[in-house]
Amino acid sequence: MADVLFTNVRVFDGGGDAPFTGDVLVQGNRIARVAKTAFGARPVPAIGAQVIDGAGAFLMPGMVEAHTHFSWNDQPSLDAIQRMPPEEHILWCAEVAKRYLDMGWTSCVGAAAAKPRLDVVTRNAINDGTIIGPRYLAAGQEITLPGGLGDSTQPHLPQHEFAFGAIVSGAEEMRRCVRMMAKYGVDSVKINLSGESITGMPSEMSQFTEEEIRVCVEEAKAWGKRVAAHARSTWSIKQCVRHGIEVIYHASFTDEEALDMLEAHKTEHFIAPGLAWLINTSHHASQWGLTPEVTKKMGYHRELEAAVESMRAMRKRGIRILPGGDYGFAWTPHGTNAKDLEYFVKYVGMSTMEALLSATAWGGPMMRMGKVLGYIREGYLADILLIDGDPLADITVLQDKARILAVMKDGEFHRAPAMQRTRATTRWAA
Ligand SMILES: [Zn+2]
Repeated sequence: MADVLFTNVRVFDGGGDAPFTGDVLVQGNRIARVAKTAFGARPVPAIGAQVIDGAGAFLMPGMVEAHTHFSWNDQPSLDAIQRMPPEEHILWCAEVAKRYLDMGWTSCVGAAAAKPRLDVVTRNAINDGTIIGPRYLAAGQEITLPGGLGDSTQPHLPQHEFAFGAIVSGAEEMRRCVRMMAKYGVDSVKINLSGESITGMPSEMSQFTEEEIRVCVEEAKAWGKRVAAHARSTWSIKQCVRHGIEVIYHASFTDEEALDMLEAHKTEHFIAPGLAWLINTSHHASQWGLTPEVTKKMGYHRELEAAVESMRAMRKRGIRILPGGDYGFAWTPHGTNAKDLEYFVKYVGMSTMEALLSATAWGGPMMRMGKVLGYIREGYLADILLIDGDPLADITVLQDKARILAVMKDGEFHRAPAMQRTRATTRWAA
């Protein structure tokens, strides 16, 4: 693996400061030097390195997606996802994993898979080089209860009919379920603590008992697994804080008490609202029968309003809000995930800087790699993007594959830049 020296780039290092003109040297899979050339910094020792003249391109850390479902197959319903046979399904996951990397997402946090081992097998294949994809934390099926989000069984079909979620009722079934997931090798366990209006169980309902949740968290911790929750209702958000559930997906409906609880524990939780799902289901899914009239009746318009208000309040309180959420439906196809950053600016009131940091600086700890991931700093892992344009001026450039000039993961180019490359022949470059 040749060393790579990026020269003449605008470095956004993820620390919150304005970008500076400089050079970045990658040695092996690490960032070895970051130099501010504009201030007459020392030259970078780079003999033999591949030199890339960035011509002023924007260099930033690879982005982290906080709520990823590789196995959602860009179809209009959970049923259509679930019915995909396993053989096709695993190939689909492999293709989608590559798509994330293409679009600059060098890390993704799995937030549930449509079959028990899809995520685990995909993660393992990425890690051993069988397929191409981002760093990935694998999830199992969503844990749900009879009648909850993900219970797709029907009384006239055989009991063993495969369900979308893992359905449990009672503490002992919960314990067994989490143990099975640990056996399969998941990194995290995801529990559906609230409903989801499209499935018939409203988003504001929460039906797991405290005992079931307690056992879920206890058992996951015993196996060293993280717990994440689908939590749209106010009550379910409070359950997450009370039970120490680290990752809170959606968090649409809050009251003062829920916000106070989150603020008091803000270093212990990550919030990924998944606004893309709410926005596009409410307003851009008519082609699939979900006209605005239909989705309004379902409750999604009201939920979108509530979610925007909740996120604005959380932002003001310094609670960590991250991009990602339920891409992989027909109206939120995989690869369009950078829309989340646009939504953060447009709806939540974040600056473009805050939106970028939500995908980088917060991404490191979200991947449980906070000391080595999410920054362009010496010693950090070389997950690097080169962007044509300035996301701080226009956050939407990150949605355009043509503007993502290069994607490097772990020191290797997934996509090398087309710009001219030479090899450093002197001991010092730049
Ligand atoms: Zn989800």
